[in-house]
Amino acid sequence: MKIQTALISVSDKTGVIDFARALHARNVRLLSTGGTARQLAQAGLPVTEVADHTGSPEILDGRVKTLHPRIHAGLLARRDTTEHMDTLAQHGIDRIDLLVVNLYPFRETIARPDCTFDDAIENIDIGGPAMLRAAAKNHGNKAGGVTVVIDPADYTRVLQEMDQHHGQTSFALRLSLATKVYAHTAAYDGAIASYLSSLTAQEPDAQTCAERESWPRTLTMQVQREQTLRYGENPQQSAAFYRDPVSGSGLLANFRQLQGKELSYNNIADADAAWECVRSFEGPACVIIKHANPCGVATGETIYEAYQKALRTDPTSAFGGIIAFNRPVDASTAEAVSGQFLEVLLAPAYEGSALSVLGHKKNVRVLEVPLGTAQNTFDIKRVGGGWLVQTPDSETLDMSALKVVSDLKPTQEQMQDMLFAWKVAKFVKSNAIVYAGQGMTLGVGAGQMSRVDSARIASIKAQNAGLSLQGSAVASDAFFPFRDGLDVVVDAGAKCVIQPGGSMRDEEVISAANERGVVMVLTGMRHFRH
Ligand code: 5GP
Repeated sequence: MKIQTALISVSDKTGVIDFARALHARNVRLLSTGGTARQLAQAGLPVTEVADHTGSPEILDGRVKTLHPRIHAGLLARRDTTEHMDTLAQHGIDRIDLLVVNLYPFRETIARPDCTFDDAIENIDIGGPAMLRAAAKNHGNKAGGVTVVIDPADYTRVLQEMDQHHGQTSFALRLSLATKVYAHTAAYDGAIASYLSSLTAQEPDAQTCAERESWPRTLTMQVQREQTLRYGENPQQSAAFYRDPVSGSGLLANFRQLQGKELSYNNIADADAAWECVRSFEGPACVIIKHANPCGVATGETIYEAYQKALRTDPTSAFGGIIAFNRPVDASTAEAVSGQFLEVLLAPAYEGSALSVLGHKKNVRVLEVPLGTAQNTFDIKRVGGGWLVQTPDSETLDMSALKVVSDLKPTQEQMQDMLFAWKVAKFVKSNAIVYAGQGMTLGVGAGQMSRVDSARIASIKAQNAGLSLQGSAVASDAFFPFRDGLDVVVDAGAKCVIQPGGSMRDEEVISAANERGVVMVLTGMRHFRH
């Protein structure tokens, strides 16, 4: 069905005159609301005011402009149903084939520091979403339907299709535009709900919007689907990746994939873990991740050296891993990582020569990710029937809060090793035990139900990798509930231990450290990660 009538009612008037002119040139009749109609008329375009079209004036300061059966029936009548078309004819109502609407700028309004409660309320668009939802519902089928445009960026697409299809649009375009509408109106209502729920018991008009920073009673996520994924954690699960354009930072906020196969669900989850860990280091660092846990972390003079060290921690697990660097990748580092099987490589940049080397490994997904320091606002986890929401575990260690509780005092080198191990332990699933020395992990025990088992596993892994734990440092992500875990790490060769403390049996654990002649430092902060 050819587009004969368009209704244009926009707050953001970007490009609308050119679009309306192009529609007019294609013999489309233009209907429009007050402000928009004025601008089109000033541009010399023939336009019918909605008020004239419906016979009802705009009333209540614009609260009621387009809320009229002549508009909504024109949008909602099914194009493929004779009865609907007859009803329009019977009531002398014209079809509206193209709807061009964008909404009162609610979010922009409440973001203004001087925004009052009344400003916010008046910027809740009513007629706009009603028309958008009606038009999107009636995007129809291959036989015809309403084309709905919410984003000025889509004006050209619509014109191109009209030119290609004798004044019509394709079903594919109408479907995609309708999808965009519902995502937009949902986010729009979400922003309103979130704003209203943030109001406190005080007189709302006495407040400014900027003050309302307390946690919302309703959590509205304005996340946008970035890509569908082949499957989820397992092939029997469907999955997609949603981006958070508002509070997002870190890996997914703005990475660029330079080469390689499509990212999978597990790739993204692991890449995120790798990125969060590697960007916590200041000097050149390398992190290798498998199943969301670091299996090798190291720092070095260069990232090449860091990689060589990180790989030594656990070369078996590093197979098929995700590797992240916090410095631009050069050719020799690219050459080195190409020597192993890896799924994803992440870095803030790549030298041209490095990309040529990686180009020979077509399947490796190479991601360029800016090294931001911003954190996501929330950390969210799905549980049956709801969500658990927390602020991210982003607090850094307060060095002045560190307490040396053993008789033996740490050397400077031991302190450095302990702090390195502690940094890594934060990114290891609990219960986490990390052995480290000279800027590299020596053994990682992850995700165990008991701390003592995690300590045993970390020692076995070091042994398997042929690494000596003599003189090493150990970090434990939470306190030792008994002395047994400490005994395991000291038996393995550790000489200094860093842990949060806070156990009922701290005294027992500290005297065990003294009895075994090792250093013990308490951080006062734990890093559970589940
Ligand atoms: P204009 O500048 O053309 O006067 O107004 C355009 C805006 O009005 C658009 O953002 C559109 O969504 C909104 N709008 C259209 N019809 C109605 C209505 O009946 N009530 C309200 N509150 N807003 C409307």
